[in-house]
Amino acid sequence: MSEFRQNLATKEWVIIAPDRGARPRDYASEAEHNGDVPGHREDCPFCPGNEEKTAEELLHLERDGSWLIRVVENKFSALSTEHSVARREYGRFLKSDSYGHAEVIIESPRHCDTLATLPPAHLEDVLRVYRMRISEISMMKNIAIVMLFRNYGPRAGTSLEHPHTQIIASPIIPPHIRDPFQKAALHYDSWGSCVYCDMVEEEIRQQERMVYENDAYAVFCPFAARTPYEVRIYPKEHNASYFWTPKEEMAPLADALGTALRAMHALLGNPSYNLLLRTSPVGDEDVRYLHWYMVIVPRMSTPAGFEMGSGIYINSVAPEQSAEALRGAVGRRQ
Ligand SMILES: [Zn+2]
Ligand SMILES: [Zn+2]
Repeated sequence: MSEFRQNLATKEWVIIAPDRGARPRDYASEAEHNGDVPGHREDCPFCPGNEEKTAEELLHLERDGSWLIRVVENKFSALSTEHSVARREYGRFLKSDSYGHAEVIIESPRHCDTLATLPPAHLEDVLRVYRMRISEISMMKNIAIVMLFRNYGPRAGTSLEHPHTQIIASPIIPPHIRDPFQKAALHYDSWGSCVYCDMVEEEIRQQERMVYENDAYAVFCPFAARTPYEVRIYPKEHNASYFWTPKEEMAPLADALGTALRAMHALLGNPSYNLLLRTSPVGDEDVRYLHWYMVIVPRMSTPAGFEMGSGIYINSVAPEQSAEALRGAVGRRQ
């Protein structure tokens, strides 16, 4: 049985999950990732025809009589809402059953699709499904935070090539997420403004790290980017919660995200990347000091001992250079 355990000194939690079983795996190498990807694979659990190989379906969107997007429970997750949330002492340590929820959003029936190659209307549907699921999961009992992330390519840690995104919902807000929230609250107490609104305004004013913007979103490489070509997407209007994004802002979001990913693919040649969606904890959707955003980190290098030991990243490409190169790649064919 899996469980949460807390590091007594740092208050960080880990999930100890010895019984997860063998997870499906499509590909092992970078070379395979850059080769020709078929539109359909018999042995892929996410391809049409293999629906019974996935766990319970939670939602699907249909187009022309067949599914376009499917959401299923993550059957390899260590988390379950059947478990208890109660913390238990174990000597001086603290642990708890692995309460939580995990699911997978299968973003297209076509095995070879990527977010960068989806038609805008399909990408908008994907973003709408993210919103529906975050909103639904936020209503589940005892959930404190909903985390959405996408691992693309072997260097980003994914085992399946079929386009998909994962959601993990937890009763615990991890310290590395809580910490920036607290700093944002302090900034609000000092200046009376949302630190993210201030940051977006300053990036737009300075322009040198901007990659793209439309009426509703700003896309830029942040001033203190930790890695080469790290890109962030922020709504220009203050909004703490992704699921409070107005309906009319989903098309511009698809435009901003699609533009960023296509530029990244064109410039870096189909890179592995991690995409994270950071949104407010459950119950803090209307606070004035938090602001949802997306971050895309291409996996150009693996953080090494220096980064692990110091917590200070060494970024070998200045964000001004990254942004200039990405701007040049906006609209370029892959
Ligand atoms: Zn597939
Ligand atoms: Zn804000």
